[in-house]
Amino acid sequence: MAMPHRYLVQFNPKQTPHFFTDILVIGAGIAGLRAALEVPAPLNVLVVTKDRIQQSNSTYAQGGIAGVLSPEDRFENHIEDTLRAGAGLCHRDIVEKVVREAPEQINDLIRWGTHFDEEDGQLALTREGGHSHRRIVHALGDATGYEVMRAIIERATETPNITLWGDTFTVDLLTHEGRCVGAVVWRVGQGLLLIWAKQTILASGGAGMVYRETTNPPVATGDGMAAAYRAGAALRDMEFMQFHPTVLYVAGSSRFLISEAVRGEGAYLRDRHGKRFMPEIDARAELAPRDVVAQAIVRQMEATRHPNVYLDLSHLDPAVVRRRFPGIDKMCKSFGLDISKDQIPVRPGAHYMVGGVTVDAEGQTTLPGLWAAGEVTSSGLHGANRLASNSLLEGLVFGAACGRTAAALAAEQPDTFTALPLASRFAPETDGALDVADITNSLRSLMVRHMGVTRDKAGLEQAERDVAFWCRYVRAREFSDRPGWELQNLLTIARLMIHSALVREESRGVHFRSDFPERDDTKWQRHIVCSPFQG
Ligand SMILES: Cc1cc2nc3c(=O)[nH]c(=O)nc-3n(C[C@H](O)[C@H](O)[C@H](O)COP(=O)(O)OP(=O)(O)OC[C@H]3O[C@@H](n4cnc5c(N)ncnc54)[C@H](O)[C@@H]3O)c2cc1C
Repeated sequence: MAMPHRYLVQFNPKQTPHFFTDILVIGAGIAGLRAALEVPAPLNVLVVTKDRIQQSNSTYAQGGIAGVLSPEDRFENHIEDTLRAGAGLCHRDIVEKVVREAPEQINDLIRWGTHFDEEDGQLALTREGGHSHRRIVHALGDATGYEVMRAIIERATETPNITLWGDTFTVDLLTHEGRCVGAVVWRVGQGLLLIWAKQTILASGGAGMVYRETTNPPVATGDGMAAAYRAGAALRDMEFMQFHPTVLYVAGSSRFLISEAVRGEGAYLRDRHGKRFMPEIDARAELAPRDVVAQAIVRQMEATRHPNVYLDLSHLDPAVVRRRFPGIDKMCKSFGLDISKDQIPVRPGAHYMVGGVTVDAEGQTTLPGLWAAGEVTSSGLHGANRLASNSLLEGLVFGAACGRTAAALAAEQPDTFTALPLASRFAPETDGALDVADITNSLRSLMVRHMGVTRDKAGLEQAERDVAFWCRYVRAREFSDRPGWELQNLLTIARLMIHSALVREESRGVHFRSDFPERDDTKWQRHIVCSPFQG
């Protein structure tokens, strides 16, 4: 496959402005800001993010953060729940580290001004699917991410050694003699800049936008994973994308997540003929685990030849429904749907990228000088499936670990203020106009069709051929704006995901192969590592 150049853009260090920092953090979600807050003065931290500071998956998190905080609960319970969800691929040492650090991380957030919901003067703890005990702290009802990010952004903004740059797109990681030495970024109003960093922390989040239906905001285009791959870092577990079963499916709507709590309160799932189909599939009916419900929905959509199924709340008390789900009520109303009597169209959507850049317990990647934390990584915490509310926690624990360790190393590196002899030159394809939006939409639809909740060899091979074809002419170009770079990154991510899904000839966690429906521990209790970038 033609992968013509190491960097997406050309740059000449003699004609590009330079910026020097001790630590560069890419991404201003929970992982990036937590990392930045761990770096002590006098070290400088520059945090870059491609959109407004508030635009991240972290801000949209609803349910909460898991941590053992109740006297009835034990670390061992949280560890076992996480291992069970991960279907044999979690790393026990990592799970133990994250679970044991959770209470301290949650306390730090409280110290920094996060107001978690309380009951009788105590933190209110809720329980979610897969958790054996009540251990999820939440804020503003179902807007935990919004509140946590409000507090952490305020804290970072007030911290003198942290500089925050919004509207700054990281195009690529700079590498020199096998080390990451910073990044080439595009800053609105300034253009290309070369940022030289003693240590670089990647916290650029997930890749839900590679699917047409996703709960993720538009920033989640897998840029960091693709850039790390081009820079030579190892990635793994790319076949594991967690789907949320019930995402609002109305033309023109953003794909709004309809929380599991709606089914928890008694909502039914019905097909286009009004048939309630979950009871005959699983004894837990609508409350079966996410992957079971998502697969059942897809099968029912196929059987009824209909693009969605429906959530039905019409048998519940309308006053209770409206009081319990004000956000969902408001969103549905804006499309003329009354949740107390109308059927709400839903289908599964990409929710959480389990795979990513391989990191060790400190967040170190396989590329010296590059650290990573949060959804961009594969840390060994989630295995083949993420336990609900463990991902904000992962961002906190690994963000702090990266910040601490990268800072210790940076403190030992003297300032040189030297730009390294790096340049990027190539002859890009310039013939013919390219409709970037059209290819992006085609890719996102293809991923739903062939790399969605249910996969098989024939579909994956078709997807592999189509993506390889698009890559040939999209990667041969040089773009000068965000949509073009995002498309190039989405294509890279899609290629790695499809390849890994083809290789894994079994079903495990969130990866379901209809041609290999069983889990096969003899062959597949291992990670699939993406081979290094070629050419
Ligand atoms: C609707 C929804 C609900 C969720 N609910 C929960 C929940 O209740 N509990 C839970 O634990 N998890 C939840 N999750 C998952 C959780 O929110 C994420 O996994 C977590 O927030 C990821 O944090 P992060 O810091 O790694 O990435 P993000 O928060 O996504 O931050 C990534 C940052 O990187 C920036 N960035 C990306 N590309 C570039 C680039 N090229 N250049 C510069 N900057 C870039 C982005 O702009 C952003 O600032 C939910 C997710 C969604 C979408």
